[in-house]
Amino acid sequence: MSAKIIDGVKHARQLRADLSAQISDFVAQTGHRPKLKVILVGSDPASRLYVSNKARACRDVGIESVTIELSSSVTLPELLEVIDAANEDSTVHGILVQLPLPPHLPVRAVLERISVDKDVDGFHMYNVGGLVVGSTVFSPCTPYGVQKLLEAEQIPIAGQNVVVVGASNIVGKPTALMLMQRDATVCICHAKTRDLAQFTILADILVVAAGRPGLILGPMVKTGAVVIDVGINRLPDGRIVGDVDFDAVRQRASHITPVPGGVGPMTITMLLHNTLVAARALTGKALSS
Ligand code: NAP
Repeated sequence: MSAKIIDGVKHARQLRADLSAQISDFVAQTGHRPKLKVILVGSDPASRLYVSNKARACRDVGIESVTIELSSSVTLPELLEVIDAANEDSTVHGILVQLPLPPHLPVRAVLERISVDKDVDGFHMYNVGGLVVGSTVFSPCTPYGVQKLLEAEQIPIAGQNVVVVGASNIVGKPTALMLMQRDATVCICHAKTRDLAQFTILADILVVAAGRPGLILGPMVKTGAVVIDVGINRLPDGRIVGDVDFDAVRQRASHITPVPGGVGPMTITMLLHNTLVAARALTGKALSS
């Protein structure tokens, strides 16, 4: 068997074209343009690249984006003041604080300060709680992108055995919760899981988000499984790879995402989607008050 390669670039392009049309309609109907405020602390090159990619993607679909750059020595009160101003600004619909933050800034305190109505990354505890009870407004962008890829490929989720490798708050746990909401039977593995292969081999859908190149080898995957590789790792020779041994696993899986070109393009797309959702909700609230 040689797996079908899930083309995240193609799916993201289709979704963005659709979003672009919806945003044009929204602007024509309301006179407001969706606006995203991105807060970047420090000068980490990877974070800068992510932020500039997000700004470009916003521009491409007609979302206004503004980036506020703060020094890595910014204090917590100073950062919270910037978030408060964005919360108060009625022209801003989405707020995103680029992670990671410098170690002196407590991540949870920063994320909890973002208005839940503008939390387009879906990291506020309110939105995380929504994932548990199944009424989330803003799903975190990478897990949402994984779900959308499965839907776009018409891969059934209900009743499937899903194994998620990685239990972070931003990828692994929300992915597990979202797929559980879709009636999958979900198992979450992490760094202390003993004998990872005994779990991964059971997966009809295997989602890997550990940040460990070469973690998932061919024999760890059931024949016919769908393999979603969220990992992004830069090797010493400069190549970008996922967490899955692509060539070996491809021989066993029915579907597989490449890295790059799989989940990555979907993540930013879902941020654009969430920003439009926020703009619709906030504009509707303002009009009815
Ligand atoms: P993270 O916060 O470092 O979490 C990694 C998770 O993987 C942890 O739960 C960790 O377990 C687990 N893990 C580490 N080594 C493992 C092993 N040998 N076996 C099983 N589990 C293991 O990372 P993250 O932010 O979730 O990101 C994960 C990967 O996805 C990274 O490569 C990141 O670059 C990539 N990513 C991609 C996108 C995208 O758009 N494609 C978006 C976000 C992240 P413990 O909890 O026990 O430590």
